[in-house]
Amino acid sequence: AVFAQIRRREPELNCYVTLEEEKAFKQAEEVQRGIDEGTLTGPLAGVPAAVKDNMCIEGMRTTCSSKILENFVPAYTAEAVERLRKAGAVIIGKTNMDEFAMGSTTETSAFGVTRNPWNPDHVPGGSSGGSCAAVAANECFYALGSDTGGSIRQPSSFCGVTGLKPTYGTVSRYGLIAYGSSLDQIGPVAKDVTDCAVILETLAGHDTKDSTSMEVQESARFTSALVDDVNGMRIGIPRDYMGDGLDPEVKEAILNAAAVLKEKGAVVEEFDLGMVEYAIPAYYVIASAEASSNLSRFDGVKYGFRAKEYDGLHDMYKKSRSQGFGPEVKRRIMLGSFVLSSGYYDAYYLKALRAKTLIKEAFDRAFESYDVILGPVSPVTAPKLGESLSDPLKMYLGDIYTISVNLAGLPGLSVPCGTDSKGLPIGLQLIGDCFKEKQIIRAGYAFE
Ligand code: GLN
Repeated sequence: AVFAQIRRREPELNCYVTLEEEKAFKQAEEVQRGIDEGTLTGPLAGVPAAVKDNMCIEGMRTTCSSKILENFVPAYTAEAVERLRKAGAVIIGKTNMDEFAMGSTTETSAFGVTRNPWNPDHVPGGSSGGSCAAVAANECFYALGSDTGGSIRQPSSFCGVTGLKPTYGTVSRYGLIAYGSSLDQIGPVAKDVTDCAVILETLAGHDTKDSTSMEVQESARFTSALVDDVNGMRIGIPRDYMGDGLDPEVKEAILNAAAVLKEKGAVVEEFDLGMVEYAIPAYYVIASAEASSNLSRFDGVKYGFRAKEYDGLHDMYKKSRSQGFGPEVKRRIMLGSFVLSSGYYDAYYLKALRAKTLIKEAFDRAFESYDVILGPVSPVTAPKLGESLSDPLKMYLGDIYTISVNLAGLPGLSVPCGTDSKGLPIGLQLIGDCFKEKQIIRAGYAFE
């Protein structure tokens, strides 16, 4: 059924970079055997899933939607994908994304834009746009995304699906092609909060191959939070998230969502979070700095694309990288190299790290008073195709409500909460304290 749907919608939407129908059917047969023999009993057994194309799968092309990795076939599988497989998931393909996860619209992909299933003249958001559009268009039942600065939550919100960015350290990053290593987290994109909780339960846990991954306590079982009860839950709405720049229709939908939770017994109030104006500059300095270092490995020697003609080793590096990377990636590498260079390191990189600490402290203070922070995911609904490419700075500003969550390492959930007058979906963001995914799952479940 999923492949039939893919044949119907994919020519227009372009959610996938690679589809593996044959492999998927083989896998499905294996899973069926496991189910018949009683060795596979979990809820994900046999369910078709898609994986963002920045997660390695052995023997399956993994491109990061970049020309530089156009023909890269990894020799190993990301731990998150491995865990899904062990649970019986059937991986049907790799989803389109912004090149190296840099962008908010999936337009920077080297393999063409993905269109929003709600209205193909609009973008699906990004960078996990392919994953979110595929779930929204029923081209899979759920997908994995990655979130360095909103890339699960923002496209989930634009595509009317549910996406969860876990606390940093919850899911192993082994096999995830790094963008900003201190910010990157893998998480589920699904139809609803229940599915997200089930998938996250499968993904989470310590992995010896990623020293930043944490053991999840039994008490943290995410599915145990699927109870329709927010009585007494303290929910704070940052005034800083509800002011200038927020589309009035989005604002109304968010306030309506807050009213629903209040009606159900939550204590909802507004407060001043602070530090919000520093989130974008701090994020773009830190993420670009880490990216410039992480992407230095793509030099035409070890991976993927190599320029055809060159004159010596350095020229080969230069031409391979010049021809292999797209403009947004180059922009980030240049910005990142600049802020890390001697003479500018203190003024930009170190200062951004300080701002990051202050942002974390602002959240720490907020979580003394609240269990959950509620607000919008994005100031606007999905823009039209082409609108963002011409103005990258404007695109960066759209990350205002999502990126501080990554800087502080917190979990964030995007849940659909209505549509605007153009019929485009609006997303509600629920932010929790570190390793308190259960609180946002509980609030999201009660709301939806
Ligand atoms: N808009 C963010 C960026 O371009 C998205 C990053 C992400 O979460 N991968 O950096």
